[in-house]
This record gives sequence, structure tokens and C-alpha cells, in this order.
Amino acid sequence: MVGKLVIYWDYELQTGADQAISTKGKWDGNDDYKQTEKLLNVLNERGIKSTFAVVGICGLNGELPYHSPEQIKKMSDFGHDVGSHTFNHEYLPGISLEDLKKTLRKSKEVLEKVTGKKVVSFVPPHNQPLEFYGLSIELKKRKGISKIKQKDLIRILRELKYENYRINHWTPFRNKILKRFRSYNIRRKNGVTLINVCCADGFFKPAFDVVKHAVNTGNVGVVYGHPWALGSLGAQSMEAFMKFLDFLKPLIDSKKLEIVTAKDL
Ligand SMILES: [Zn+2]
Repeated sequence: MVGKLVIYWDYELQTGADQAISTKGKWDGNDDYKQTEKLLNVLNERGIKSTFAVVGICGLNGELPYHSPEQIKKMSDFGHDVGSHTFNHEYLPGISLEDLKKTLRKSKEVLEKVTGKKVVSFVPPHNQPLEFYGLSIELKKRKGISKIKQKDLIRILRELKYENYRINHWTPFRNKILKRFRSYNIRRKNGVTLINVCCADGFFKPAFDVVKHAVNTGNVGVVYGHPWALGSLGAQSMEAFMKFLDFLKPLIDSKKLEIVTAKDL
């Protein structure tokens, strides 16, 4: 049995920094850029491919801290999967279907122009809306039922030729109360591959547990981070990520684990 692991990076430059909730003022678009340069070197040295969820506006012609089409092109040229993280980091639960279509279409167009490749992977900002027993709910800015339903989001992704979606299947009992983290099988719904979030951002014990579970079951583990946070302390620091990579290496070498990108699934 071979487990699989997708390592995502949510890349937002200054647009993300301007909208940050809990990390407001702690970073800016230049930090995101600089840490991404370091990250690309580390991934290159280790031969690891990641999926970058890129805010479309970052790919427009213009200057840092808001734009860097060159860096996005570099991600793609290094063999990473460049996916959409919407155009302007919109909080999806509160927008209309029309605006949802616009942000998904515009980000895809810009990123395809920059990379010269098809953009097929999607990650919603703040991992919202959540999927919870058939309901689409939101917990980040407001708490309640999301205006955008999962089934509509999946239908529009399909219409616009996206192929996969990092979905947040909410499991507060398992993750918050029992503090247990596992991997999942991918699901296919209306032609879109659903890739479950497994734990919060970062590379501490929950990420290790997700990988161990994927190795034992042959499931797909998902971990993610934000490049800017590699330069800070804590679960998303470069130190934590390097330790995580050291933990992965023997699993990869012994063919128990395969690192894949979202578009490979
Ligand atoms: Zn984001």
C-alpha cells in the first residue's frame, strides 16, 4: 500500500495580508515573496512538488507587494501545480453565484496566461464554506449557513473546467475534542475531485499523524501552509517544515509514501 500526500501552499502576497484576520499586521506581501523564493529552493533540492493555491490578482502585471507574475511562472516552471485561490481572496460564503463565477473565471484566465498551463486546482479562501452533514456552513466571518452551497460551487468549478477542489469537511468532534487527525479517500462529485483538508495549517504533530494514517491506509493526506509564515515561529516555520520533510524522506525512499500534486489525483 502506498499513501499519498498533497502539500499545499496558499499564496496571496499583499492581498492576503490586507485581508488577514488573526495575523493582521504580522506580515506583508514582501515576506510572502521572499519566503516563497526560499521555499522553491528547498522543494527543488528535495525534489518535492507542491500545489500552490495562488490568488489571481498576484499574477497581474505590476509590482510587489501585490503582484509577481514572474514568481508564479517560476513555480510552474519548477513543476509545481499552480491552482486558483480565487481572484481577490474573496470570502465565498457571502458572495453571489455571479460573483463566484467571475472570481473563478478571472483567476483561471490570469494564471493560465502567466504559466502557459491549464489551471485545474482550486482552494477556497479561509477553507470556507465548510461541508457538514450535507450542509454548507461558514464560521470565519459570520456563523451560519453559507449563501454559496457546495453543490453550486462544484457545479461551477466543473463548468469552468476546474478538476479538483480542496474541500473542508468539518469534523470538530474528531479534530477539536479528540484531537485526532486522519487522511481520507478522494471523492469525485459531478466530475470534480474532492480533496479533504485533514488538519489546520502547519507541520506539527497533526501533520505527522495525517501522513502516518495515509501510509497505513493508502489514503490521501493533505497538509498546507502559507509561505510568509515560514519566516515566523510555530507550526508553519521553516524549522517545522524541514523537520516534517526529514520525517517524510524515509517513507518516500521506501516507497510507502508518494508526494503528489492536486492535479495528479
Ligand atoms: Zn487564503
